[in-house]
Amino acid sequence: MTCPICKKETVPDYRPFCSKRCADIDLGRWLTGGYAIPAEEEDLPEPPEAPRERPH
Ligand SMILES: [Zn+2]
Repeated sequence: MTCPICKKETVPDYRPFCSKRCADIDLGRWLTGGYAIPAEEEDLPEPPEAPRERPH
């Protein structure tokens, strides 16, 4: 198995990474949205029948 960050051999202590550095990098990517995660907004209650302009 290789480190997904730098492709080096992984170390059991830091699996699936090769070092704490790479683990931190990966964590940072998650936290900063580096990965393509579909950002779904929380379900907000829809406003009740908002009056819209209707053609008369
Ligand atoms: Zn690495």
